[in-house]
Amino acid sequence: MSELVAVSLEDGIAVITVQNPPVNALGPGVPKALLDAVAAAERDAAVQALVIIGGGKTFIAGADINELLAAAKNPESGGPDIHPLLARVEDCFKPVVMAIHGTALGGGLELAMAGHYRVAVADALLGAPESNLGIIPGAEGTQRLPRLVGVANAVDLCVSGHLVKAGEAKDLGLIDRVVEGDLLTAACAFAREIADAPVSKTRHRNGGLNNVEANETAFAAGREQARKIRPHQTAPLHAIDAIEAATKLPFEEGCKREREIAKLCLASPQAQAMIHVFFAERGVSKVPGLAKDAPTYPIRTVGIIGAGTMGGGIAMACVNAGLSVLLKDTSQEALDRGIATITKNYNRSVQRGRTPQAVMDQRMAMIHAQLSYDGFEDADLIIEAAFESMEVKKALFTDIEKIAKPDCVLATNTSTLDIDAIAAMTSRPGMVVGLHFFSPANVMRLVEIVRGKETSQKTLATAVAVAKTLKKIGVVVGNAYGFVGNRMMFAYMREAQFLVEEGALPEQVDKALTDFGMAMGIFAVDDLGGIDLLYRVRQETKHLDKPGVRKPVVHDRLYESGRWGQKRNAGWYKYDDKLKPSPDPFVRELVEKTSTELGFSRRAISNEEIIERCFYAMVNEGAKILDEGLAYRAADIDVIYTTGYGFPTWRGGPMWFGDAVGLQKVYARICAFEKQFGPDLWAPAPLLKRLAENGSTFAARDEKDPK
Ligand code: NAD
Repeated sequence: MSELVAVSLEDGIAVITVQNPPVNALGPGVPKALLDAVAAAERDAAVQALVIIGGGKTFIAGADINELLAAAKNPESGGPDIHPLLARVEDCFKPVVMAIHGTALGGGLELAMAGHYRVAVADALLGAPESNLGIIPGAEGTQRLPRLVGVANAVDLCVSGHLVKAGEAKDLGLIDRVVEGDLLTAACAFAREIADAPVSKTRHRNGGLNNVEANETAFAAGREQARKIRPHQTAPLHAIDAIEAATKLPFEEGCKREREIAKLCLASPQAQAMIHVFFAERGVSKVPGLAKDAPTYPIRTVGIIGAGTMGGGIAMACVNAGLSVLLKDTSQEALDRGIATITKNYNRSVQRGRTPQAVMDQRMAMIHAQLSYDGFEDADLIIEAAFESMEVKKALFTDIEKIAKPDCVLATNTSTLDIDAIAAMTSRPGMVVGLHFFSPANVMRLVEIVRGKETSQKTLATAVAVAKTLKKIGVVVGNAYGFVGNRMMFAYMREAQFLVEEGALPEQVDKALTDFGMAMGIFAVDDLGGIDLLYRVRQETKHLDKPGVRKPVVHDRLYESGRWGQKRNAGWYKYDDKLKPSPDPFVRELVEKTSTELGFSRRAISNEEIIERCFYAMVNEGAKILDEGLAYRAADIDVIYTTGYGFPTWRGGPMWFGDAVGLQKVYARICAFEKQFGPDLWAPAPLLKRLAENGSTFAARDEKDPK
């Protein structure tokens, strides 16, 4: 028997164990090995029933990701074909029991559904998350799922991509029993119970498919849900079409229709972009020059300085990951405010049923709020999250250097300031690194790991490991003003403001941006983050301004008039008590007055111009960043933007978007903007020029030099 599958006979039950670590993916050879094992067990007179189980930590977690990549590159192939295996399992005349632990996702769930019965341990997770990749369950999943859980639930599972635990899966009808104790023992006992019952094939369970009225309601609700939670995305709508086929066509024809839709999806630019992001997220942990198993400092206790917006969020992220936290601020008032916010956040999670009260209590107990540095001498990692001021940070690093133990990693959460200048305040700059979290830090997945010129390999490896521990995506970037994400955002923000000064209104720009797919418009983001925040950043970096170069003006005026965003119920928008924004006549007047003062006669600005100026400025800055070596790969920038800045994954990130538009076109437009607005703002990045002239792409550059 193949090494990928082991078979044993346990008192009349053939136990077929998939052995394809780490996640038993349906990789090359696995479907065939399984098929052969099922056929052999069916022939074996000593076998009364079959149990299929995953070896190691999980059932079959899904398709093989390398095969997925190959399929995305060659969508015509339709991807790996597991249909013969599914038919073989379902047609087996002896009962086949799927024994599930860990996860059964995508292709794993599709295989499980072809079995005659499914049992699972309580913490097993099942789901059809294909929408996250811009594709649909393409191995008969859209045909079997509604037969097991009903049309409305199938629609919901495919659209949301949510994973369900065994208990819920049982309630839905996706599995037959939640088992306790040893899974294999329980699955074999179950198999013996049902060994003599006639097998029931999922594909024959048509009973719940025929309620036309209920189905129509479910499809309409699903399309509405898709528009809400996955705006602009086509895959969830395609999944609904495929489920609709299940309700209208016999099984085989439904499967045929599903295959056509699946191929179409796989070839779509959205799937290509989302699969790119999927791989890019996994690629960021490959840090050039850093061995995968590079030694790290062990991190158990984290000292956090500053209990404000960021310090509080970082504290939550740490205790959520089991690290203990010392949270320091300068006044009792600031500390109380910080703890009140953390408590409110956890309370909300408890009320929504996401966190048990006992877990909340345990996590709160792991946060030690304090005004002194007591205990910081034992901290393994100190993260500074005080005000964005070089003076404050320099003073703090001078202080903590005296307290921290020699092997304590010293990190700053600065969004813009020079890590090297901060590190220079200590006698151990090798221990200093930037850990740039995003707000809210307990939720946002991105951490930019800023490598200073002295940051040691071990410190960097530790930072990468910490990001992983916190279940975040850590992207290593170089030390330059704004690092990668904010530096590109400043260019994007700059153009958005210029457009307003030339004739657009904030709400028009924001609408064009959200229509493009951004999670929020840039002005809404600015109001959320605080206009005062960006203002303060600008004050800190005034010395970097080039004289004579145009700078946005309205932002300063908003700050000066006390319109600091949501916290003041007024910024680029005005806000009601529930923080619902609406256009503000004050801002309109301010904008129009500013335009006149600046000598612009306001003109109609097209959405196309908004998109081109905002995003091409971003792409151009990204290309400069790559040329300067501040990001290793264009894909890293894409991850920063999709995980930290609300850039739509279905567009693959800004650099992938540039490739999709065509770099020749992007370059030509940037050259035109350079003529119109001057080289200080729009000189094309040399890398962009080179790639455009060679008919190449950022993705090709990544592939040629994956670092
Ligand atoms: P904040 O004003 O909400 O909190 C700062 C906290 O630090 C305050 O509670 C303040 O009392 C405390 N503090 C100031 N000086 C201190 C000192 N010497 N010792 C101890 N505590 C001190 O600010 P924030 O938004 O949390 O930002 C903190 C840092 O994180 C800044 O460097 C900022 O640029 C960065 N950052 C902010 C965001 C964001 O969206 N807010 C995102 C990424 C990074």
